[in-house]
Amino acid sequence: MRGCGDCTACCTVFSIDALAKPAHTPCAHASGGCAIYAERPHPCRAYRCGWLDAPTTFPDAERPDLTGIIPDIPTPVASVPVVLREVQAGDAASEGAKKMLERLARTRLLLVVRYDGASTLHGPDDLVAAAGYLLHP
Ligand code: SF4
Ligand code: SF4
Repeated sequence: MRGCGDCTACCTVFSIDALAKPAHTPCAHASGGCAIYAERPHPCRAYRCGWLDAPTTFPDAERPDLTGIIPDIPTPVASVPVVLREVQAGDAASEGAKKMLERLARTRLLLVVRYDGASTLHGPDDLVAAAGYLLHP
């Protein structure tokens, strides 16, 4: 089973109300791991990114701190997108991120959420066409 290793990408990307931590801001407790691991709030305990849980989909080199992208696979259903969240502005343009996006988009619907909150759909044309409501509900 995979472990997070040195990655703390989700400790930057997500807002955590219990810590009054805004999104896209490094957690004050993240330094070489979690400094309050035993007392970390529930959202921290519950969260596992797609890279952690789907090693057959994401190779080691796509760990979120290496690509700048946190993947989430809400369900294997093809019409429900894999969500790819940019950690820092511009990370989605990195070579590692582009390779991952191109590979996944051959078979899966993807929702790429940029640092500024803008979202774009990628993937097979029929799936993208059917999922336009996600961008313009
Ligand atoms: S983004 Fe994934 S691999 Fe990185 S710390 Fe969070 S759960 Fe672990
Ligand atoms: S409390 Fe720990 S696990 Fe939660 S965001 Fe901060 S460093 Fe990460």
